Amino acid sequence: MTRNRFTVAGGGPVGSLLAILLGRHGYEVGVYEGRPDSRETNIYQGKSINIALSDRGWNSLQQIGISADTKDNAIPMYHRAIHGLDGVLSDLPYGREGDAIWSVSRGGINERLLDIADDEPNVETHFEHRLVNVDFETASAVFQVKDERELTVDADYLFGADGAHSKVRRLAHDLPRFSYSQEYMPQGYIELNIPANPDGSHKLEKNALHIWPRKDFMLIALPNPDGTFTCTMFLNFAGDPSFGSLHERPAVKAFFETNFADAVEYLEDPVDVFLERTASPLFLVQVFPWSFNRKVGLIGDAAHAIVPFYGQGMNCGFEDCAELNRLIDVHDHNWDAIFPAYENARKPNGDAIAELSKRNFIEMSDLSGDRRFQVRKMIEAKFSARFPELWTPLYSMVTFSPDIPYAEALRIGDEQNRVMDIIMGWPNIEENWDDQEIMEQLHSLAVETFGHEM
Ligand SMILES: Cc1cc2nc3c(=O)[nH]c(=O)nc-3n(C[C@H](O)[C@H](O)[C@H](O)COP(=O)(O)OP(=O)(O)OC[C@H]3O[C@@H](n4cnc5c(N)ncnc54)[C@H](O)[C@@H]3O)c2cc1C
Repeated sequence: MTRNRFTVAGGGPVGSLLAILLGRHGYEVGVYEGRPDSRETNIYQGKSINIALSDRGWNSLQQIGISADTKDNAIPMYHRAIHGLDGVLSDLPYGREGDAIWSVSRGGINERLLDIADDEPNVETHFEHRLVNVDFETASAVFQVKDERELTVDADYLFGADGAHSKVRRLAHDLPRFSYSQEYMPQGYIELNIPANPDGSHKLEKNALHIWPRKDFMLIALPNPDGTFTCTMFLNFAGDPSFGSLHERPAVKAFFETNFADAVEYLEDPVDVFLERTASPLFLVQVFPWSFNRKVGLIGDAAHAIVPFYGQGMNCGFEDCAELNRLIDVHDHNWDAIFPAYENARKPNGDAIAELSKRNFIEMSDLSGDRRFQVRKMIEAKFSARFPELWTPLYSMVTFSPDIPYAEALRIGDEQNRVMDIIMGWPNIEENWDDQEIMEQLHSLAVETFGHEM
């Protein structure tokens, strides 16, 4: 039997996982990555760009059996440590006792997946091969190689796993009936660093995601195994304060001292870094279809670029791979059936996590510093602990419940919001939130709304 050949454009985390899964199904896979091989060139130059990986990501990685060892290099974050403007710290747990999201090195996980791909007999990885053209009828693609030479690669199928700025997706614009939308957020971001203590320990609590919520802007910090924290400052491009308004050293210094007083002593040269770095924009891309002529598909950020406020972009991309993997078995390698089944299954979930991620900026930057918000979360947590079959908080559905698709989590979460709005109208709720009557009213509203146990 001749094996089908796949080209995977993009050797990022999603492209590498996809290649491994396809290879293990017996396909011949060529991964073509535009950048040099980070394992040889150290392009991360010691920088720890980390991301939060949660159950959807781990579940998907489990399909190739790497979750246990990857977790060795991951730090569990059990709660959000919220740094008030007055320096007071408060905690918001992520879910039930023991639930954690995991801080992992983005480069580390990508390199681990590339190592596994290289060990697969059916997978070949190529670096410094930048895709420049695709024939959507035949799945043949043209790559510009390091020395400017052009190389045409023929295959039976091609996946664009080439990220938020996907070339494959941009080329698809010329195809008939291709729907596309792109939305820029008002905020951009820069990364900052908190170094380790001289003994290698962390300067802030290690097992937490730290947030300095300041309504229109915020700073977050995720721990790295080497004792450092990678911090991200999200701030508007325009207005005051903004990346646009803060360009003089005294103003930037005052901005940090006023808003992040308890972080300034730990951050490494925040004023210099802020002035030197160009803020990166944040945008969402939604497209349909995700496949063309049953020959070419999109996956990961190429299919759904979202904003990072739910920490789900990579989780969602890994879940795309897991779903595709499942569909290959369900449809017994019939790609005429797999492509439509894949895009129909994943598109509503990509849209849902895009919406949830946008909304979560407000939750992270504003509400998590707000007493009413915290009370709301405490009531939900208490109710959910008592009636787990009736109520799983939205954050837990998205982050800790891979069996609940994103689209379903969004729908249930909206219904829960309506119920909680009623509960929050209870007199003096901030003082009385722990009263038995609140639990009773919430119980009857939940039963009435959901009609059955979740
Ligand atoms: C600030 C920030 C924080 C984030 N935090 C989280 C988080 O906490 N949790 C989470 O799950 N996600 C997070 N994300 C999202 C996550 O980084 C992405 O969803 C994930 O990297 C997507 O993986 P991918 O492989 O689809 O795309 P990418 O990681 O972008 O990889 C695409 C690859 O394709 C290559 N490429 C591009 N063009 C071409 C071409 N023409 N030819 C060949 N190769 C090409 C690129 O070099 C790259 O290696 C965050 C994103 C940002 C910006």
